[in-house]
Amino acid sequence: MTAMTKASDNFWQYKTLAEMSPDEWEALCDRCAKCCLHRLEDEDTREIYFTNVHCRLLDTATSRCSDYENRSTRVSDCVTITIDTLDDPYWLPSTCAYRLLAEGKPLPDWHPLVSGDPESVYRSGNGIHGRTICEDEADRLDCHLIDWIK
Ligand code: SF4
Repeated sequence: MTAMTKASDNFWQYKTLAEMSPDEWEALCDRCAKCCLHRLEDEDTREIYFTNVHCRLLDTATSRCSDYENRSTRVSDCVTITIDTLDDPYWLPSTCAYRLLAEGKPLPDWHPLVSGDPESVYRSGNGIHGRTICEDEADRLDCHLIDWIK
């Protein structure tokens, strides 16, 4: 992780998601990588159940996608976060910055833009670091349900 200074321009507090520049949009991602975990959904209730099984493209050393540019072509069910897909963001983790802002909520204290420290994500227990397995190693997703992600 590279050092990061606290954002002097709190753009997320006065700009809408649609008004953000590409750099600002990308900066919203806290690198928790929770969205890289496989989830199961109850189609009746829309309840989301997280598993500890991560996408094979996730680089667990950096908590970044190893092929970010091509992720949606290489992984057919990878959902790109856009203004349109944030219209109903229930499928994202409740701590995801994109979901929080789409729902009119503030970023948490541990978000790197607020804390100025990328490591605050992990110190606060919001990173998935060291707690997951690759989808290549998992047989049935329903055997890997977890309760430590909200
Ligand atoms: S859940 Fe949201 S904040 Fe976390 S890595 Fe995914 S897009 Fe970024």
